[in-house]
Amino acid sequence: MSGVSSVNRTNQLVVVGAGVIGSAVAWHAATAGWSVVVVGPEPAGTSSSWVAGGMLAPVSEAWPGEEISLRLGSASLESWPAFASAVSVAAGGSADRAPGGPLLSAEGGLLVGVDGADRADLERLARYLAARGREVTALSGREARSLEPALGPAVRHGLHVPGDLAVDNRRLLWTVRAAARAAGAVFDTDWLAEEARGGRVLLRRATRVGPGGPPRLDVGGGEDGERGTRECDVVVLAAGAWSSQLHPGLERLIRPVKGEVIRLAATPGSLPPPRRVIRGSVHGRTAYLVPRDGGRLVVGASQRENGFDTSVTARAVRELLTDAGALVPALDEYEVTETIAGLRPGSPDNVPLVGALEPGLLVASGHHRNGLLLTPVTVELVGRLLGLARAAFTSASTDAEELLSATDPARFATVGGADHVEEVR
Ligand SMILES: Cc1cc2nc3c(=O)[nH]c(=O)nc-3n(C[C@H](O)[C@H](O)[C@H](O)COP(=O)(O)OP(=O)(O)OC[C@H]3O[C@@H](n4cnc5c(N)ncnc54)[C@H](O)[C@@H]3O)c2cc1C
Repeated sequence: MSGVSSVNRTNQLVVVGAGVIGSAVAWHAATAGWSVVVVGPEPAGTSSSWVAGGMLAPVSEAWPGEEISLRLGSASLESWPAFASAVSVAAGGSADRAPGGPLLSAEGGLLVGVDGADRADLERLARYLAARGREVTALSGREARSLEPALGPAVRHGLHVPGDLAVDNRRLLWTVRAAARAAGAVFDTDWLAEEARGGRVLLRRATRVGPGGPPRLDVGGGEDGERGTRECDVVVLAAGAWSSQLHPGLERLIRPVKGEVIRLAATPGSLPPPRRVIRGSVHGRTAYLVPRDGGRLVVGASQRENGFDTSVTARAVRELLTDAGALVPALDEYEVTETIAGLRPGSPDNVPLVGALEPGLLVASGHHRNGLLLTPVTVELVGRLLGLARAAFTSASTDAEELLSATDPARFATVGGADHVEEVR
């Protein structure tokens, strides 16, 4: 492949996968003047981004031993307000309101627990965060309830984490895609990638499930299905949990980690939901509640490794409702509006893979349970690899060189990509 930065014409980018990562990368590159095509089905229903809870919570999600995740997440969290404003404006809204409503809520988070073991976990986390200069305050159950009256009497311990944010994931998806389209990116939902290589994507036409239905993820048409190829300067592989199927270097590196969530809505006369994100440990099991506007709430999430299965099990629903109900008893009166499962793109070290796989091919995947949080930093890192200027939304604390070295896929033996970074441009 020829180096694209020296060529005096519009650079061509093909993004594989229209989840939040692929769509946001497409927006950034199209805004910088690249000609961008995003290949892959509508993300509604198929993507992890559509299912996610929406916590932007590097501190609440932090755990000893996961320092790189905390650094990446903190840098990304700092970029989030400016990223949300930029993408909202680009989609036709205003700085504090995307066309469908605000993207972010900024009430912070509360970590809560019910028994002694939960308390020990919270204390350990508090010590770890305090040693890193993070602001957290230990609370009794009563103090936690004074901040969030919806919490029930079972809550005995808490940790207040100011600064964490939450995003409406579906509004975000709609907004980044609208912003990308407004910048000239084209979304081609008729084809699925079969293989991503340097400067080239091999395609298979997607079959539809029923008239007007969404393209299926398992490529259709059998061996005889219609095939095609897209040539370009650079391919960005951002197909979430499916990325490993599309390049041999990612085999066994990115794996699907199933997560089930329940969406609820307050009913007339029921107590309103909490304003903050509540992340609870209930006898060692984790459950979280992420408020949305209009009295809606997302309760999550199970974590199971069962291939590409996206069924919602009775057990997950029972456990999530039991645990969330122990934290916020008023949920018993809420309407269940949806149960859904998605596939987090897991990586071996819980750090995403952002970097070159071969000349003309970048990967941006493996964001596991923090892909929404890590969207702004991922966009910045991919932009750097494409030779774009630092994005205006990127926080001062984002050291792109350092973070690119932490996310380099060549840290795994199956990928020989480090030498390709210069050749990608
Ligand atoms: C239950 C649950 C809760 C979560 N909660 C949070 C949270 O609170 N905060 C947070 O930050 N993150 C959360 N996550 C994680 C987050 O959703 C993911 O990390 C993130 O959405 C990954 O985005 P992505 O664009 O890489 O992948 P996806 O959103 O999965 O998008 C990948 C896209 O690629 C498409 N695709 C697949 N195969 C092909 C192909 N062959 N050709 C073309 N396209 C293809 C898919 O259809 C899909 O649209 C959660 C995830 C789950 C499942």
